[in-house]
Amino acid sequence: MGLIPDEIVHRIRDGADIVDLVARHVSLKRSGRSHKGLCPFHDEKTPSFHVNPERGTYYCFGCHEGGDAISFLMKVENLTFPEALRALARERGIEIPETRSGPPGQTERLYAAVEAAQARYRRALAAAGNPAAAYLERRGLDGDAIERFGIGFAPDRWDTLATALRDAGIPAEVGERAGLLAPRQSGGFYDRLRGRVTFPIRDVQGRVVAFGGRALGADQEPKYLNTPESPIFRKREAFYGFPQALEPIRRRDRAVVVEGYFDQIALHRAGVPETLATCGTALTPEHARNLARRTAYAVLLFDGDEAGRRAMARALEVLLPQGLRVRAAKLPAGEDPDDFLARRGPEALRRLVDEAPPALDVVCDAAIERGCRTPWEKADAVAAVAPLLALVADPAERGAHCERLALAVGLEVGHVDAAVRAAARGDDPHEPLPVAPRRDGAEERQLRLLAKVLVDDPSRAAGLDPDAFRALAGEHPLARLVCALAAAVRGGAEPRSAHDGLEAEPQQLFLRLSVEEIPYDAGRVPEIIEATLARMRRRRLARERSATTQRLRQAGADAPALIQEKQRQLEERRLTEVSTTS
Ligand SMILES: [Zn+2]
Repeated sequence: MGLIPDEIVHRIRDGADIVDLVARHVSLKRSGRSHKGLCPFHDEKTPSFHVNPERGTYYCFGCHEGGDAISFLMKVENLTFPEALRALARERGIEIPETRSGPPGQTERLYAAVEAAQARYRRALAAAGNPAAAYLERRGLDGDAIERFGIGFAPDRWDTLATALRDAGIPAEVGERAGLLAPRQSGGFYDRLRGRVTFPIRDVQGRVVAFGGRALGADQEPKYLNTPESPIFRKREAFYGFPQALEPIRRRDRAVVVEGYFDQIALHRAGVPETLATCGTALTPEHARNLARRTAYAVLLFDGDEAGRRAMARALEVLLPQGLRVRAAKLPAGEDPDDFLARRGPEALRRLVDEAPPALDVVCDAAIERGCRTPWEKADAVAAVAPLLALVADPAERGAHCERLALAVGLEVGHVDAAVRAAARGDDPHEPLPVAPRRDGAEERQLRLLAKVLVDDPSRAAGLDPDAFRALAGEHPLARLVCALAAAVRGGAEPRSAHDGLEAEPQQLFLRLSVEEIPYDAGRVPEIIEATLARMRRRRLARERSATTQRLRQAGADAPALIQEKQRQLEERRLTEVSTTS
């Protein structure tokens, strides 16, 4: 799929009538500046789903789903981003240019080469007396499975594939670019996968784009070999078994992720067709995004030994930031799903997947098992898990995990929470947390008003220095949103789509504020921003002054230095008052 230029994406999104789009799925009523109705993403009896036609956003106060026209279509019709974009573009009569690399027809020739290879490999496997058929039979794959998964065989000869391509009128150079052939030193080309069982890797549309090969000879290295990346095969986003798994993933609302071709096939045969395998790479953020668009739930199968647990934690690092809810099924040490199926049968494998506990529970339990009697052990257990907990996108879910961990370790939840927040900032979770400034209701209201004004018109955030603002406002989700907006707009983001690049938490706040009714005088926005900042400055100074006064009262304090500090603070207040009244 070609890349769609940003300007086209913006044109499509800005041109979409979100009220009209949502109204096809939800009955909407006007309410102030927005429209509201029953949320299509969760069950409810009173409407908490709001649409803001001016901003082109929606947000549900019940389940916190939010986004724009494109994400609405993706969620409600279960489409990928390009699919939703194309659907909206079609309606508006906007043409999406294909920006494929190379002149037209080049990619088509690659597909043709891979298709010809697939036909040749399958024919070779069907031929009598070949070693691949015997090998597959030993691994328990019958003719039916071979047919279903399109498994083939690359004979152990130099020229089988080169000849087949030539017969199909495809130049060897095209075969090379598709990753099928490799040049020989003596001239000519050889079949990269020769002497291997072949597994076709398909794209979402079901077209073969690459192959995985399993060695047949005992001394053949490596045991698994993929054809390399090509213009039609990107390992970072490809899954083995994707087209067959799409419908089951949608139906069962979960994706099971394994590492090898035989593992994927084993799970399909056990009745878990929503299974995918990565193609010779670890999971990447592209993989995770690809999954998160289609389901909220992922199940990982991992080997029960220490290495398997580490691999699982690495997969979590990639999956959690996309908001995926991940379960982890533990296999007996040294057994892969293929062995497990052969030894214990399909029913047991299905149960293993269905009953998999939340992956973060597994990670937490492993940390606790290492011991948490002494204060040091408790600190180490929390520090070991905090970086993963910090990646959980949903604040409520993260809080629940912190509570569970605190209970198990025997600490107050506030301490676990502090370690997780430190990890989220990239600090060592062992380090103490700077105390968050105390905040009262009035301050929170000011911050909220400021954020609302900037959400309604992000271009106003260009006047804010994120660092200075953070120093003033401290750590608060609303303050983080204001900083992130200011950073985005100052970094050159288009104000209308400034929320696109935000992280999960501020983005959710943004969407929420975009539909929230906070009354203010739209004609006086610059004054509102200035006055709010001035009030925040005065409050901070007042807090600092009272802290200094407190310290002065304490015995043994360095009185002259504190008095000097106090004078500086008074002077600063005078200056603030001058600047805000002028
Ligand atoms: Zn909802």
